[in-house]
Formats: sequence, structure tokens, C-alpha cells
Amino acid sequence: MLDVSKPATVRDIMRHYGISCRKSLGQNFLVDRNMIKKIISVAGLTPECLVVEIGPGLGALTVQAAQKAGKVLAVELDRGLIPPLNEVLEGAGDVEIVPGDALETDFDALAGEKTGGTFGRGGQAYKVLGNLPYYITSPLLMHLLTGRFNISLMIIMIQLEVAARLTAVPGTKEYGSLSVAVQYFAESKILFRVPGSCFFPPPGVDSAVVRLSLRSGPPVAVHDEELLFKVVRAAFGQRRKTLLNALAGSGLGGDKDFWLQVLENAGLDPRRRGETLTLAEFAALTEKIK
Ligand code: SAM
Repeated sequence: MLDVSKPATVRDIMRHYGISCRKSLGQNFLVDRNMIKKIISVAGLTPECLVVEIGPGLGALTVQAAQKAGKVLAVELDRGLIPPLNEVLEGAGDVEIVPGDALETDFDALAGEKTGGTFGRGGQAYKVLGNLPYYITSPLLMHLLTGRFNISLMIIMIQLEVAARLTAVPGTKEYGSLSVAVQYFAESKILFRVPGSCFFPPPGVDSAVVRLSLRSGPPVAVHDEELLFKVVRAAFGQRRKTLLNALAGSGLGGDKDFWLQVLENAGLDPRRRGETLTLAEFAALTEKIK
């Protein structure tokens, strides 16, 4: 079996298949055996697990995941990688390569279709794994979180700076709409840093592995989830403004008097900045909008 955890093997494969790393698709391949093992170990894979991997690349994580999980579905956008990936995965276990765009994928439908309904919507929950393509990290995360897929756990590698935003708390410069959304759908933790030297080619920035444990229900009660996220985006849209000015100027409708009343009803000081509000406060604010 080809050992893709070595940069020399990755180079050989690329030469042999006449391909190169496509920067536009965020192709930085993991080439550090210890790091690959460490990522797989925190996913807690067992033979009962179904894993959906996003962007298998040349299979560095895929091969190891397939040795621990019952089945791996690997969604890869770059069709040029599929022939080498097939070679790398030969004899690796139960892995299916799924050509396609993860941003467009209905993961529950895919899991159901590939397991005869055992996993996915109405079936068992599955795990998501991925060294995510950096150019679409935020939209991909939002797709995974807001899609209400039957996912129990995500182990993802992302840029350190994005990981900090994901897990940020109110009042910090990293805290933003992504932090609030992640908190609404999941419990998140940065597990460890991954230096740029673990990749081929090295990306020039450090990354981090993040664990997202998806909640079975939201931690705050809101009747209109869509409105909650509109309010959050409005509050962060103009970070330097007070909450009152940001909301009144946001296009959500309502003049200053309206928002003053809403904020008062929610027990929030209109002079605060949006970036200081907790998820519970955003929820309380949303509930007072009529
Ligand atoms: N998992 C491999 C590894 O760790 O070495 C590759 C990770 S590389 C950072 C990201 C992978 O995602 C690439 O293989 C890239 O082609 C793929 N990719 C990029 N955009 C994608 C998309 N929209 N859907 C699925 N895969 C995508």
C-alpha cells in the first residue's frame, strides 16, 4: 500500500499521475504520520461508526480512518485526484469515494443511500472528519451546522485563526457571528495546533484541530431561528457602533424608538456593543422583536 504520509510519496504520485496541488481548491496535504494518527485517535472511531470525510485529497486521513471505522464515505471535488486516491485506498477497508461538492451535499441523504438507511435521517448518527479546504471553511461549517444533519461529532482541521473565531467568547476580538452560530449548534473545543510544516505544500499559517460535538437541541429557546441569526449578523455588521445604532441601521426594519423599546424589553443596555452579547442575550433580544 502507498504511504501518503511521506512527502516523497506524495510527490511521486503527483508526478506519476501528472497532477499538481491546486491552491484554488485548498490542497495542502497532510504528510506527518504522527499528526495523522493523533487526528484519527481523537475521532474515537469504532467498527460501528460511519465516517463522512470532506476532501480526502490523496487519502492521508482516509486510509487511517478506514482501518478504525466500519465505513468511510469520502466526498472529493477534484476529479483529478480520484485515480490516485483509488490506488492509495486499495485494500484500505470499506471506503467509497463520492465525487462532488461538499457545499452542495445533503449528507444525511448520502449516508442513508450508502448504508441502506442505517445512518442518516431517521437512522443512526455519523461522524464528519476533514482537513477542510480553507477557502470555504465558513460556508462549509454553516452548511454542516444549519443543515440539521444527523451528525454526532465533527473533527475538523482549520486555520488556527478561524478556530479561534469558532470558539471565541463575548467581548474578545475573535467573537463574531460564526462563534454564536457554532455555540448554538454545538459544543466546540480546540484540541491541538498543527504546524504548517505538517503539510505539503506548507500553507504558511498554522492550523488547529477542532472538535464539534453537535447538540441534540438548541441551548436557548427561540421561536424564529432565522431571525436570531439575522439579529446576530446585524449586531456584528457594524462592530464599532452601539447595539442600538447597529440594529437601527441594519436593514432589519424599525426605527431607533422601536429598537430602544425592544432592547429595554430584553433588559439590554442600548449602549452596549453587539460583540459583548452572549448567545442567551441574543436569544432574549430576538424574542422581544414583534
Ligand atoms: N484530506 C487530505 C489531507 O489531509 O491530506 C486533503 C486536505 S486538503 C486541505 C482539502 C481537500 O478538499 C482537497 O483534496 C480538495 O480538493 C478538497 N476540496 C476542495 N473543495 C472541496 C469541496 N467543495 N468539496 C469537497 N472537497 C473539496
